[in-house]
Amino acid sequence: MLVLRTMNWTDALARKNIQVEYWWVPAHKGIEGNEEADQQATKAAYKYCARYTETQNLLPFLDYISFAHVSRRLTEVKWEESKEEIMKLGKKSKHSDRYDLVKRGGNSAVMEAKKTIAARFYQLKSGHALIAKYLLRIGKRRDMKCWWCGHEYQTRDHLFKWCKRWKREQKRLWVDGQEGEDGYEGVEKVFKKLKISLPMSLVFAEEKCSQALMDFISCTDVGRISGVVEEAENSDHEESSDAGV
Ligand SMILES: [Zn+2]
Repeated sequence: MLVLRTMNWTDALARKNIQVEYWWVPAHKGIEGNEEADQQATKAAYKYCARYTETQNLLPFLDYISFAHVSRRLTEVKWEESKEEIMKLGKKSKHSDRYDLVKRGGNSAVMEAKKTIAARFYQLKSGHALIAKYLLRIGKRRDMKCWWCGHEYQTRDHLFKWCKRWKREQKRLWVDGQEGEDGYEGVEKVFKKLKISLPMSLVFAEEKCSQALMDFISCTDVGRISGVVEEAENSDHEESSDAGV
């Protein structure tokens, strides 16, 4: 698209007897003119991208910005949003080391672990976690069978409320809660309702339950795959459709 437009401009200028020459120059080497062009391009891209993220409509801006820039910028935006979410969680918990570690960069193993759990939290919250229902939807599995307990439907609800593999952790999440400084109330107590009548979307939306959910996620492998799924992926190329899963 840019090449076409440039050719049109060249033609227009040629009609006015202005010759245009094209020179290849190495990027980012401090060449005068090129640096200026680079800055202008970045400025324009950010300007249009800001508008894009507001309107969520990319089409009007494709003339001005590259896909690479859009995807990079969106990743930045998403990362900023996750950091905000993590900060909120940190402030909610009595011990805010979750966020502090991310912010200050403490023990990197601990920091990574917390970040992984936070990532799993957002995946589970948004419905994009590695659970059978999602994997079936994106074509990575052929059924919704739970790879922990064999139940027919591994949904988010199943994993957090009923899966036999995580009974102990479920009891703490819904009923017992956790004592002590890092403590939290069981979700049923927070809502004064039984888990059967509480949709997971509601629980994930309630900040009072964030700590309990994070704890549950960190103590279980919910939202993770076991060997079953990799096998399923490998068998995609085979003729037989009932291999693996
Ligand atoms: Zn299960």
